[in-house]
Amino acid sequence: MDVAVIGAGPAGLEAALAAAEAGARVALIDAYLRPGGQYWRQLPAEFDGPPLHESSALLARLAATEARLLTGTLVWGAFPVEGGWQLTLHGPNAPHRLPAQTLILATGAYDRPIALPGWTVPGVITTGAAQTLLKSQRVLPGRRILLSGTGPLQLAAAAQLVEAGAEVVAVLEGAALAVGRGLRHLPALAGQSARLAEGWRYWRALRRAGVPLRFGWSVIKIEGDSEVEAAVIAQIDDDWRPIPGSERTVAADTVLLGYGFTPATQLSRLLGCEHDFAPAHGGLVPRRDDIFQTTCPGVFAVGDGAGLGGVELARSEGRIAGAAAAQQVGRLTAAETAAAIAREQAALAREQRFAAMLGALFTPGPGLYELATDDTIICRCEEVRLAEIRAAVAGGAATVSEVKGVTRCGMGNCQGRICGELVARAIARELGGPASLTERMIAAGTFSVRPPLEPLSLSVLADAAEK
Ligand SMILES: Cc1cc2nc3c(=O)[nH]c(=O)nc-3n(C[C@H](O)[C@H](O)[C@H](O)COP(=O)(O)OP(=O)(O)OC[C@H]3O[C@@H](n4cnc5c(N)ncnc54)[C@H](O)[C@@H]3O)c2cc1C
Repeated sequence: MDVAVIGAGPAGLEAALAAAEAGARVALIDAYLRPGGQYWRQLPAEFDGPPLHESSALLARLAATEARLLTGTLVWGAFPVEGGWQLTLHGPNAPHRLPAQTLILATGAYDRPIALPGWTVPGVITTGAAQTLLKSQRVLPGRRILLSGTGPLQLAAAAQLVEAGAEVVAVLEGAALAVGRGLRHLPALAGQSARLAEGWRYWRALRRAGVPLRFGWSVIKIEGDSEVEAAVIAQIDDDWRPIPGSERTVAADTVLLGYGFTPATQLSRLLGCEHDFAPAHGGLVPRRDDIFQTTCPGVFAVGDGAGLGGVELARSEGRIAGAAAAQQVGRLTAAETAAAIAREQAALAREQRFAAMLGALFTPGPGLYELATDDTIICRCEEVRLAEIRAAVAGGAATVSEVKGVTRCGMGNCQGRICGELVARAIARELGGPASLTERMIAAGTFSVRPPLEPLSLSVLADAAEK
């Protein structure tokens, strides 16, 4: 293969198209059964639903190229080899290994976890997961649903739940969105009329259904044992710390927590690309140049997996990286590539401004992470509580790897994808010191990434070794 694109969401689809239409031999791989990623999530083929969105046009263009589409296929490892890279795959119609001269990582993002008391009670799920249930299975996550989080997904998900017949108790947006502060960001709204209209539609749907929308409020505790019974909510200050006296209890059977996303950087870290910690872009992100090539030559990273930016930024980055990869494998000239990149610059700048605005307005403050008590589980897979992490730090552990060695946190099915940042924060807070919290989190490090990236049976690994 000339180009292997991992992730068939908006970024990966555009990247694959740009490279394939330039004549490159392309493989587009996605773990989900159908292409489209999070935003263009399709119903399973058996549901026989109508084509939902503009991804149909992109997929039709892709079908007209020689590109090979491998869905239901997990990329579980990636290794440098002579002349490029080797991917290891697991899927019904996939080869065990796929060599490629260049890689485009378009792996998207996943919900950012917040460990507040009660977050592991059955009936608490993330807003993204609830939306995925709705989009991919037409299933409601509960009956009386409370949403708490930050960012535009809150409105979208709440409106979609109402439309699907759920009772939404309230939507709590952590950001206070004071008018004065919002005005500073007005220029970032230029050229975003479609998004504003979409937001307005959701807003009106919620008003019509009588759903209360509170700014500067958050869930601070969830009550229930075998299922959610109620949630304690509170008004929060600028640092997202509860304002004493504002607490009240709300009955609900389901709580959706939606505090933003974390870029999925497992592959870029496995490949050894350098990363930076950028909270406004979602956390750890691969370092990239202006054609979105990482510090590993021939490896590009685009879309939400390289820093949160939304659908249109993901698409624009994908088109640029696809053209740049096609040039690297000799399918486009330098002049053709430069022209393709130049065509994207206006959209790219517009979407980067918008993404920066979202990052500035909707990044949770430190108070939210201070809600966990000693008894709160931080690593769900291994059921490690905050008290055990604090004890490990008191005993001399200063990095996430050292805490892992003492407590087993990060050793479960998710391999630290969920708890990694929470553990780094807990260490940084516990150690204290003159450096900023972010600097202390960077010093605490990350869990190391190893193949297989997701749990696989031994027979799959044995097969991969033999063939
Ligand atoms: C849960 C969720 C809900 C969202 N809801 C909205 C919304 O309502 N409105 C809105 O405007 N934006 C929404 N967004 C944001 C929007 O979906 C993203 O900005 C956009 O989809 C980014 O596109 P992408 O191509 O970068 O990533 P994605 O669309 O996330 O696609 C990434 C793809 O990579 C695949 N993948 C990852 N790792 C591997 C691997 N190792 N092997 C094989 N495949 C892999 C995944 O299966 C996935 O299909 C949501 C995001 C998430 C995560």
